[in-house]
Amino acid sequence: MSQRYLLKNAQLPNGALTDVLIVDGVIDSVAVNIATNDAEVFDVTDSVVLPGLVDLHTHLRQPGREDAETVDSGSRAGAKGGFTALSAMANTSPVADNAGVVEQVFRLGQEAGLLDVFPIGAVTRGLAGQELSEIGAMADSIARVRVFSDDGNCVFDPLVMRRALEYVKKFDGVISQHAQEPRLTIGSQMNEGNVSSILGLKGWPAIAEEAIIARDVLLVDHVQSRLHIAHVTTAGGVEIIRWAKARGINVTAEVTPHHLLLTDELARSYDPVFKVNPPLRSEKDVMALREALADGTIDIVATDHAPHTMESKECEWSEASFGMIGLETALSVVQKAMIDTGIMSWEQVADRLSTAPARIAGYEYQGKNLAVGSRANLTVINPKKTWIVDRDLVTSKSRNTPFHGYELPGVITHTFFNGVPTLLNGVINQANGKK
Ligand SMILES: [Zn+2]
Repeated sequence: MSQRYLLKNAQLPNGALTDVLIVDGVIDSVAVNIATNDAEVFDVTDSVVLPGLVDLHTHLRQPGREDAETVDSGSRAGAKGGFTALSAMANTSPVADNAGVVEQVFRLGQEAGLLDVFPIGAVTRGLAGQELSEIGAMADSIARVRVFSDDGNCVFDPLVMRRALEYVKKFDGVISQHAQEPRLTIGSQMNEGNVSSILGLKGWPAIAEEAIIARDVLLVDHVQSRLHIAHVTTAGGVEIIRWAKARGINVTAEVTPHHLLLTDELARSYDPVFKVNPPLRSEKDVMALREALADGTIDIVATDHAPHTMESKECEWSEASFGMIGLETALSVVQKAMIDTGIMSWEQVADRLSTAPARIAGYEYQGKNLAVGSRANLTVINPKKTWIVDRDLVTSKSRNTPFHGYELPGVITHTFFNGVPTLLNGVINQANGKK
C-alpha cells in the first residue's frame, strides 16, 4: 500500500502555482492540476512550499541538560518550525568529542523520527581549546560527522585551529568557528556601545568578533581548507567576509534570525531573555547583516537555538545564561526581516535556509528544492497569516524566546520529512517516531 500525499494549489518559491504529489517518500511530480483519487489531499492555497529547512546550529542539550531540551523535544520544536534537519552542537555534557557521544545523539534523532539530527563534533577535547578531539573517529562513525565546532567557545589558539582545518580536509569537512577573542570579552555581558555605558554592563566589542574572523580567513586560505563562521553579528565582520570571498577564500557564514531583527536597545529592560552570545548589536549592524544575507556575503540563516531552564534565565542579568530559543520562530522572523521589507525573495529564503546549509554540511537528502525524484523534505508556510508568539505555548522544553508577545507573519502548517507529514495542519505528527 503506497503512501500518497497531494498538496493542491501550492506556490513554489519562484511564485509559480502548482500541485505537488508525494509518493512513498519521494516527490513524484510537480505540475498543475495533478489528478489522483487515492492520495490524501491538502489544499494549501495562499501558501508557499519550501524545501525543508536545514539548521546548521542547534543546541539540543542532550546528553546532560535534559531539563532544558532533549533530542526528542528539540526535534518536535524543529518540525513545528518547518525544519527537516538539525545540527546538534557539541557543547553537551559529556562533550561530543568522541564517536560514542555523536553516535548516541544520532540514534536519539532516529528514535524521535521527526527530522534528521546530524551531530556536530567538538574541535577540541572537552572544548578546552588545546588538543584536537577524535575528529577522525567521529567522521568514520555511523553519524558521519562533517561539521566540527567548539561553539560556546572560540578555537582561540591559531595552531590548534590550523591543525583542525588541515585535518578535516581529508573528508571535505568544515570547521564552524564561534568567533570571540576571549581576552577582549572577559566578563562581557552585552554589546559594547552607548547602551552598555548607560546600563553599566560590561561590553563585548565588535572587534573581538572581527579579529578572529580576520585571522581565520587568512588561515583557511593558507591551508586551503573549509571555514564556516557561526553567527556573524557585526558590520565589520561582514566587510571582512566580503573581502575574503572577493579573493576566492573558501569561507561561508551564518546569521541568526534574532540578529536580523533585534538590537541592544532591548537590554534597557534588563530582561535576561535578551542576553545572548554573541550579543544583540546596533541598528547599523542589523542593516549590514540584512544586506549581506541578501547579496550572499552571508550564506545562510542558522538559529543558534539555545534552550535554558527558567532558573538560569529568570534571574539578574549578570547571573543569567546566554542564549535564546529560535526553532519555532526562525522562518517567521526571516519573513518579517527580509521578505516583508522587500529585501529578499522566497527563492532566496529557500536557498539561505535549506539549499545552502545542506550544501555546506554535505547533507545528501536535504536542500533539494522540490526536485522530482528527490526525498520529499519540505515545509508549507502561509505568509498571509500572522500569529502571536506565546512562550507558554512553545514546543521546546524551554521558554526563553525573545519574541514573546510579538505578532509575527507566516504560519507554518505542514512539514514533510522523507515524505511523511511531521507537522499536519500545525499539529506535530510523531506516528513514525517514538511517543
Ligand atoms: Zn556560538
